[in-house]
Amino acid sequence: KHLKERQRLPVVPLGIEREDFYNALEELKEKLDAEHVEVNDKPLRDGWYMEHPNTHDMMTILDEEEFVASAVVYPSTTEEVQEIVKWANKFLIPIFPISMGRNLGYGGAAPRVRGSVTVDLGKRMNKILNINPEDYTCLVEPGVSFYALYDELEKKGLRDYMWIDTPDLGGGSIIGNTVDRGVGYTPYGDHWACHSGLEVVLPTGEVIRTAMGALPGNNTWQVFPYGFGPYCDGIFSQSNFGIVTKMGMTLMPNPGGYESFMYTFPNEQDLAPLIDIIRPLRIASMLENVAQLRHVTQSLAVSGLPRSKFFSGTGPIPEDIVHAEASKSYVGDHTWAYYGMSYGPAHIRAHKLALIDAEFHKIPGCRKIDPSKLPEDEYFWSRDRIAAGIPDIHELRWVNWAPNGSHIAFSPVSPIRGTDATQLFELGKKIHGKYDIDFFPAFCVGLREMHLIVEIVFDRDDPAEKKRALDCLREMVDEAADKGYGEYRTHLVLMDQVAGTYSWNDGALAKFNERLKDALDPNGILAPGRCGIWGKRYRGFGWEM
Ligand code: FAD
Repeated sequence: KHLKERQRLPVVPLGIEREDFYNALEELKEKLDAEHVEVNDKPLRDGWYMEHPNTHDMMTILDEEEFVASAVVYPSTTEEVQEIVKWANKFLIPIFPISMGRNLGYGGAAPRVRGSVTVDLGKRMNKILNINPEDYTCLVEPGVSFYALYDELEKKGLRDYMWIDTPDLGGGSIIGNTVDRGVGYTPYGDHWACHSGLEVVLPTGEVIRTAMGALPGNNTWQVFPYGFGPYCDGIFSQSNFGIVTKMGMTLMPNPGGYESFMYTFPNEQDLAPLIDIIRPLRIASMLENVAQLRHVTQSLAVSGLPRSKFFSGTGPIPEDIVHAEASKSYVGDHTWAYYGMSYGPAHIRAHKLALIDAEFHKIPGCRKIDPSKLPEDEYFWSRDRIAAGIPDIHELRWVNWAPNGSHIAFSPVSPIRGTDATQLFELGKKIHGKYDIDFFPAFCVGLREMHLIVEIVFDRDDPAEKKRALDCLREMVDEAADKGYGEYRTHLVLMDQVAGTYSWNDGALAKFNERLKDALDPNGILAPGRCGIWGKRYRGFGWEM
């Protein structure tokens, strides 16, 4: 009882006696300072985005104690990361690396296997090792956030010269976001495509540098991502094959001017023709950035007001209420809002913007919004900052839609085609309706594909609501896969299911991943289960969910 009042009894990894685990931690304390090895014995606090926990997912969809760390360790160098990995192999303790742990919507800071030791790289490995204004590149450690890189460019007087690319929220880690193949909203929005060179600690403790980083004395690591021989960087993204301790990233030259624009379109049925208009413009880079096409329900939610302010009934919020409320904003009585940005000096922008304007106006009722009439705290200006590489956190506001607001994402990819957009939209709307959940679709348009990002907002203190959200997600994943659509990224809880949908040729890709896993990580200690990949020590024991 005494223990319960002050602290939690920490979980320990399955199959390890508690005493043996504590003894192992003592040995680790001799390698790192004792203060850099913390047992997770305090009550689990969720905090908020800027003060998030590193022990669990602050937006958990399961019980909080399900995906939870037994301890957290804080290395300060690549050598210390190697020591931790060797220690994990010696005691067969699962470890789970995070850069900053702000992977909200996809599992936050939580490990997939309960009782793993979280390796929090970001707290002490947070140096910007190089910024090269000639090549427009940088080299960073895991703890460098989008905000930190932006601030450093400002401090060095380089911000007018070169831009970063940021996701909707700027507090995440550049490495963490990139290895999870996250996206931002300038022309450099495909972060993985924009990285160049990794330093990786392998699951057996060796360290490698990829691409040109393998050539001693080279000065090309951050400008030529391939080097010589097999291009192995890919196996260190969305995997559990290594711990990335350094990464090169390319930066965007200041384009010499920029201008955000926004169009709204009246009807849900405008989606297909609009997407077909967007495709050639995007592939030709007339639409230059990873822009967003958002549904009016999400536009209402990003006001930051809770759903209860508009509707107190059950089931999805009625469309007439959404439209009536949205009419008070710039979205008016329309359904879709497209947020984009044009880059370059005014005369170059004018040409592109005129073309876009003519194309978008082919949709009857299309409206161009005049930004000069929008108040400063309007969401439009957040999109404006982000598309100009200025980190922001305005996007967090729609999480307030539910009390104790949390969210989890459904993120399928498709070509930029009206028929695909309609299929996915209808699938999502139907299944959300079945589970009485509000539907927030946003299409993020990459170069030749689009990610449909659907965020389910739920009350993390309401088990029934969480179950509905998860059931809804699982059904969407399966039905989308039946129609040929797969997720670009997913939450920890869905990783086995999503990996299972990539099943061509009797699951040949999964078998290949398992072979790599067993070769690189014979003890299976590194992030078991991440992205549906389990080492042989875990397979066949029912860990999958
Ligand atoms: P981490 O949590 O540190 O890492 C993510 C995962 O990658 C970890 O769980 C771990 O498994 C693995 N990993 C991390 N570091 C390493 C390493 N060094 N070596 C090996 N594996 C590692 N995301 C987007 O991409 N684009 C968006 O526009 C976007 N918008 C969002 C909006 C809202 C309102 C919210 C709440 C979230 C949004 N996200 C978005 C999701 C998420 O917040 C970001 O992707 C965030 O950058 C991820 O967190 P992180 O950078 O701290 O990564």
